[in-house]
Amino acid sequence: MTVEQNEYVATLPMLLTEVEVLEVERVSPSFVRVALGGDALAELGPDGPVYDQRIKLIFPNAAGTLPSFADADESWWTTWMEIPEHERGSMRTYTIRDVLGDGADTRLVVDIVVHDADGHGDADLLDGAGNRWALQAAPGQRLVAMAPRKGHEFGGIEWSPGDASRLLLVGDETAVPAIRGVLRDLPADATGAAYVEVPVAADIQELVAPAGVSVTWLPRDGGARGEELHTAVLAHLTGTAPVEAIVVSDEEIDPDLWETPVHSSSGEEVAAETAVPTGDAPYAGLYAWIAGESKVVTGLRRKLVNDLGLDRRQVAFMGYWREGVSMRS
Ligand SMILES: Cc1cc2nc3c(=O)[nH]c(=O)nc-3n(C[C@H](O)[C@H](O)[C@H](O)COP(=O)(O)OP(=O)(O)OC[C@H]3O[C@@H](n4cnc5c(N)ncnc54)[C@H](O)[C@@H]3O)c2cc1C
Repeated sequence: MTVEQNEYVATLPMLLTEVEVLEVERVSPSFVRVALGGDALAELGPDGPVYDQRIKLIFPNAAGTLPSFADADESWWTTWMEIPEHERGSMRTYTIRDVLGDGADTRLVVDIVVHDADGHGDADLLDGAGNRWALQAAPGQRLVAMAPRKGHEFGGIEWSPGDASRLLLVGDETAVPAIRGVLRDLPADATGAAYVEVPVAADIQELVAPAGVSVTWLPRDGGARGEELHTAVLAHLTGTAPVEAIVVSDEEIDPDLWETPVHSSSGEEVAAETAVPTGDAPYAGLYAWIAGESKVVTGLRRKLVNDLGLDRRQVAFMGYWREGVSMRS
């Protein structure tokens, strides 16, 4: 890490810094765990619990070169976007799995999903910069990380259960780090359930969760994406397994699906904060957090809001990725 980089980092309200890959581990068929280090990470936030804190990683371009942010100021985004796409590297969104150590020894740990580790997808659709990088990652390589900086507002934590008395977390493999972080950081008396879909049983991870929160893993094992997840979530909410699969047309999918109590990608009216219904309202006391492939999340959104009548102010629906679409910036 150069002195200039550390100096400029101090001028931005977040970290935008080169980091070094310290460790790489293929922890299971679908997950590559990467530990990143660098002097600037001494300032790594957030200040409170990490929950589902998202970050950005920039992977090198095809020639292996990273963009330099050494002189970056608040116009860094415009400056970076002006670089031709094939030169500027690729930015993708990930979640902080762990922040380990402290000071100059702080390590930022990220779990990167390797697409289609069970071999059931269309190989032509699966080539992403993040996926590609993870498959060849090795100690000593470098990335750029954009992450919260202590003492500064960064955003990127969507977990916001308000006054909820019971919690529901739902996600696929890309949401495992976020669900893990939320469960780890919940108060010990929290109650609820988490449903987590992963490609294969070998991807199941040990999660630390309050005693009152059940965790159900749903390996697809070659089955349709989201199918078992839909069934399990609807059975959990209604007490009865659904008789029909949720069918979502391509036209129905918002590729930027992001509907939280306080934000709507479709421009719907939103609340100022999470508002969990009380009393006799359907699903009183419940807060639900749902993230994963956009089509799967769209199906759950329709079912939960339109058919079951959950209040939009008690649910976050987040499309973390979209099958067949590159999430490039
Ligand atoms: C808030 C947030 C947090 C996230 N946290 C994580 C995280 O911690 N770990 C993580 O791995 N991902 C995470 N994601 C998802 C990740 O950003 C996307 O999967 C992203 O598309 C990966 O980029 P890529 O370069 O590999 O593929 P892209 O270039 O975006 O896409 C290339 C192709 O790969 C397909 N593809 C993308 N992701 C997958 C996948 N998981 N399985 C199968 N095919 C896929 C696309 O449909 C496309 O056809 C998160 C996303 C968000 C919004």
